[in-house]
Amino acid sequence: KKTTLIIGAGGVGRVVAHKCAMNADVFGEIVLASRTKSKCEVIADEITNVVIKTASVDADNVQEIVELIKEYKADIVINVALPYQDLSIMDACIECGVDYLDTANYEHPDEAKFEYKEQWARDEAFAEAGIMGLLGSGFDPGVTNVFCAYAQKHYFDEIHTIDILDCNAGDHGYPFATNFNPEINLREVSANGRYWESGKWIETEPMEIKMVWDYPEVGPKDSYLLYHEEMESLVKHIKGLKRIRFFMTFGESYLTHMKCLENVGMLGIEPVEHKGQKIIPMEFLKTLLPDPASLGPRTKGKTNIGIVAEGIKDGKKRKIYIYQVSDHEACYKEVKSQAVSYTTGVPAMIGAKLMLEKIWYKEGVHNMEEFDPDPFMDELNKQGLPWKIKELE
Ligand code: NDP
Repeated sequence: KKTTLIIGAGGVGRVVAHKCAMNADVFGEIVLASRTKSKCEVIADEITNVVIKTASVDADNVQEIVELIKEYKADIVINVALPYQDLSIMDACIECGVDYLDTANYEHPDEAKFEYKEQWARDEAFAEAGIMGLLGSGFDPGVTNVFCAYAQKHYFDEIHTIDILDCNAGDHGYPFATNFNPEINLREVSANGRYWESGKWIETEPMEIKMVWDYPEVGPKDSYLLYHEEMESLVKHIKGLKRIRFFMTFGESYLTHMKCLENVGMLGIEPVEHKGQKIIPMEFLKTLLPDPASLGPRTKGKTNIGIVAEGIKDGKKRKIYIYQVSDHEACYKEVKSQAVSYTTGVPAMIGAKLMLEKIWYKEGVHNMEEFDPDPFMDELNKQGLPWKIKELE
């Protein structure tokens, strides 16, 4: 019987715990560990079909993680803590010889910068330890990478352009809140935009490029070009690609609030002196904003995330749209989390399931699009994230 260790008991951790419990035949014994053990206990109490063990861990500390992995004899670690913990958890997995999965790029706490460099650099150590690391098994990155691999496998001889289109049309009723960790979210959105064309990265001002896209089951929405981490691996793995961009929807109220907060320095990540104490503005802002987990019961509306790929099949031009629509209220009803956490947690569970079943298994550190997309696409339909394909033009 297997043992699955989940680290992180936030919005995504809750979904992963629920979904692993629904697939307990594969995941075996499930341990949920996080900095605050009481948060794990609340989640464990919601799950009734199997017993979820709980533990506290500081995942910035490699030795603590090593001890935890050894105590429970984990076969796989699902990292749904924060991107800051990616490297320490990866290093603990190398030391213990245990498979690893995450949903987000490592980010240095003091530098607002996402990149795969330091995770990819552990490829050799993972291979030597005889273990696998699966990077970015959330929705985007994650499912969007799998959609690209699926388009490549079944619809194209060559893909020339990809647009990743991420729409959250959810309404939580607050004038301003973020759907996942505010620090991560605001850093991502206030950074310069970037896309890739003809072999190089092109930088834009934040929110400089805007288009209106008509999202099926949602309607037309303002969508802004951002940098997003899955592009870094997709440009390596999708052969013949000429351009890739990422767009995300933002409402006017969100953008106005963000601009004001930025203008007064509230998005700063450098410590400032306040009444003899050092505080980091962004961390203080996080304290003020609604906890993303509390948005679950009050969010209504849908998400629609997908990819539009254009290229050539049998000498003819072709354009397809693969997308997935989720409903915030339906997600909350099922696992007590809104759709942003749901659409991240379900793919994390699926990635781990395919690894434990050895359907997706390759030693070393890998990205999603390196594997056969078909079993993942089948699981999406079975586990609560059904998708659709449209031929465009
Ligand atoms: P939350 O902030 O809701 O939860 C994070 C959890 O990690 C909390 O339980 C927190 O504990 C715990 N944690 C933080 N630091 C430590 C530490 N040092 N040691 C142990 N536990 C720690 O975040 P989400 O659940 O929304 O997101 C989880 C991950 O998913 C993030 O990495 C995020 O970037 C990623 N994500 C990926 C997406 C995708 O599509 N690929 C989309 C959305 C999110 P405590 O409560 O005690 O602080």
